Amino acid sequence: MSKFLKPETIAAQAGGSIDSETGAIIPPIHISTTFQRDADLGYSKGLIYSRPDNATVHQTESVITALEHGTHTLLFGSGMAAAVSLFLSLPKPAHIIAPKVMYWSLRNWLATEASTFGIEATFVDTTDTDLIARAVRPGETKLVWLETPANPLWQISDIAAIAAIANWAGADLAVDSTCATPVLSQPLKLGADIVMHSATKYLNGHTDVLAGSLTFADATSTLAEATTKLRAQHGNVLGPFEAAMLLRGLRTLHVRVAHQCRSADTIARALAEHTQVEEVLYPGLKNSPGHALAAKQMSGGFGGMLSVRVKGGELAAIATAARLNIWKRATSLGGVESLVEHRASIEGQGSPCPPDLLRLSVGLEATDDLIEDLDRALQGNN
Ligand code: PLP
Repeated sequence: MSKFLKPETIAAQAGGSIDSETGAIIPPIHISTTFQRDADLGYSKGLIYSRPDNATVHQTESVITALEHGTHTLLFGSGMAAAVSLFLSLPKPAHIIAPKVMYWSLRNWLATEASTFGIEATFVDTTDTDLIARAVRPGETKLVWLETPANPLWQISDIAAIAAIANWAGADLAVDSTCATPVLSQPLKLGADIVMHSATKYLNGHTDVLAGSLTFADATSTLAEATTKLRAQHGNVLGPFEAAMLLRGLRTLHVRVAHQCRSADTIARALAEHTQVEEVLYPGLKNSPGHALAAKQMSGGFGGMLSVRVKGGELAAIATAARLNIWKRATSLGGVESLVEHRASIEGQGSPCPPDLLRLSVGLEATDDLIEDLDRALQGNN
């Protein structure tokens, strides 16, 4: 498929390849774990064993590579597996920089487990580029990790400026772009070296696949090669059935995300006017601290995620969530169904998340239905 095609065309046709054996438009799922050797013991087809080599996994990887403008993608069994594999592949000892506000479980791993693998993490407010410039240690810092917009406060970090700092310090920059999706932001084009997704979320989009991806700007970089080797050895690769489902989800990524952005924007504006709402956190709102930067580095919308701080504190927030009917109380995000989550109670001690905050993942339901449900639940606090 031509590399000049628009991303939505690449996604809708899942890379465009037609099965050469049958002419099938939808590719077969390759489940063989092993491949026949040639008579001279070679492997002329290039596939040996399915831990590193699976055609279904490779096809899904190639679509993500195209959408992210990278050269190489690795799919893993989850977003956590993808992220942790990257950290484990760094040359040790490794100093890394990570945001104070980021996906909670990964932050926890970095704060409590990573040191046993020779990784020292410094947590910085990555919305302040000067703080990163002061925290990097040239020669020692191996990786700067960003998440933008960052869960669950939706703060925005400046990818291009931070890429320049990382580059100067001799470190790689990796961006968790799960909530931005490749529809709204392409970090590799802004100078990042690696983009990561919990593909469990928007890339798959239907709350029925656990998967993670890493896409590298340079497939021949030391870190890309080390991570590829680590995945082949550790075997934390995505299975072919999940890869096929993910490929199906990717076909509708652009229409889903466009709708979710429009709907989230309307909901954010409606909630900002609501008498029972303290504050709405959404980078699309003009008064949001990250709005100008988000408008510069994202295109096509500000995402389908927002958070709302409910007047009356934690109990009022929990009571609001309890009254919702259409919004389902569940962790996770990026699916076709709208979810609400009281983040502070799931993150636990040390969470930077205010206790009166509800995180909203906007799905594909009618926006009016979602607003009515929220309004009724919030009015109950009167
Ligand atoms: N990054 C972000 C922003 C997430 O929201 C999540 C999961 O919620 C992850 C990474 C981890 O992904 P997974 O649950 O697929 O391991």
